[in-house]
Amino acid sequence: MADLSFSVGASSRCDVVRRGRSIAEEHLRVSVISEKQLLVEDLETEHGSYRNGRRFAKATIEPRDMLRLGRQELPGRFLFDEIAKLKNEGQADFTQYYQSLQPAFDQYKDQRNQVETKIKRKAMLPRVIITLSAMLIGITIAIISENNTARIIAMTAGTSVAVIAGFVSPSRSDEKKAALDKLRSEHQRKLSCPKCQTTLVDREWSYWYKTGTCPNARCTVIFRDVTNSYIE
Ligand SMILES: [Zn+2]
Repeated sequence: MADLSFSVGASSRCDVVRRGRSIAEEHLRVSVISEKQLLVEDLETEHGSYRNGRRFAKATIEPRDMLRLGRQELPGRFLFDEIAKLKNEGQADFTQYYQSLQPAFDQYKDQRNQVETKIKRKAMLPRVIITLSAMLIGITIAIISENNTARIIAMTAGTSVAVIAGFVSPSRSDEKKAALDKLRSEHQRKLSCPKCQTTLVDREWSYWYKTGTCPNARCTVIFRDVTNSYIE
């Protein structure tokens, strides 16, 4: 938050506009130190800036302090409120950005599904081959052999091998994990918070949309204006 700074003055170019004959076009520069402290700098104005009655060039103010620009009194609280409003306006920009991320989230989901399907097919193939071969051999022996006992043994053996094949075919879970990890690392930077870069890759687009915020509790980003959600 330390890099946030705002201008206060009579000019409409200022972030916070205050008009008055003793207020300069650009009167104050305000930097956010913390939620309860602002650094204020007087921009060498004719009528000056005062904190609790004392003129300052540079001062730290808290919400309960009394600020005066020229002859105009302003509770310190006023600046905190104005800055909170400005920050909310800045945050709102990310709702559009978040909408634009949706195709990338969808693409990542599709690619994950493709990996799942591909690995499933790969795992199935040896099972199918073993089963079919065992059945074929069993049937062939059963047809060409002349006595019934041999037939029964061949059929039974063939069926058993087919059933066992179903259980012993190799698992592909390592291969699947590696493929999914690779996909994740390809997407984690793109699918991240635009402000603090915390990755959003482990949940779907709709999850963060519902939450409305980034997983980093200290980040002020919003992905959806939850206060206006009743409009939708
Ligand atoms: Zn964030």
